[in-house]
Amino acid sequence: MLDATGRLLGDVAGIFLPRCCAGCDQVLTRTEEAICGECLADLPRLRAHDNPDNRVEQIFRGRIRLHAASAFLQFTKEGMVQHMLHRLKYQGDTAVGLELGRRMGGEAAQSARFADADVLLAVPLHRNRLRQRGYNQAQVLVDGMHREWPGRRADAGLLRVVHTSTQTRRGRLARWGNVKAAFQLADARALEGAHVLLVDDVVTTGATLEGCALALAGVPGIRISVLACACA
Ligand SMILES: [Zn+2]
Repeated sequence: MLDATGRLLGDVAGIFLPRCCAGCDQVLTRTEEAICGECLADLPRLRAHDNPDNRVEQIFRGRIRLHAASAFLQFTKEGMVQHMLHRLKYQGDTAVGLELGRRMGGEAAQSARFADADVLLAVPLHRNRLRQRGYNQAQVLVDGMHREWPGRRADAGLLRVVHTSTQTRRGRLARWGNVKAAFQLADARALEGAHVLLVDDVVTTGATLEGCALALAGVPGIRISVLACACA
């Protein structure tokens, strides 16, 4: 009887599994969303959006002309940010992406260089990857940004990954070239004269974001900015 009750309680607990913080795995309180108060206070914010010489600006310098580039958080190996982005990318935890996106949006809205962005564009995923994962982590960030920063357009689908099946069989240089050419803008007129903010989860070499920016660069009157959730 006790066993049966114990099992029953276990089953009930399974239905109401406690939600855990994406940063530290501690149980969240009812009012906390995806990230606990302590981790939110400890987020390694870079606070460099208005510094035209910040780390992300340096990554793109001499490669492509951007209006502004920055990142929200400092990425460190084995650190809290890696843990959170891993949950977003590989463990289906879209809640942490929405929460990080909200904070990214709130911060960008306060920045002189980013505040007048008209369109938020998530770096697209290849359709095979999208099918596998079920969502695009960069689009989840954009969705979160919208909650805190309304009035922007977010044209998911405007940018597409061009199929590059031979990519893995080619050498490093060829692959680099492929990454650059791997994106295609579906409707250039939709972005004429706009300040477009490209959003991704992490910026490391910048090759993916550069490829997206190149696909946009020919649009008349466009200004292109880049914002990553984290910079390695
Ligand atoms: Zn935490």
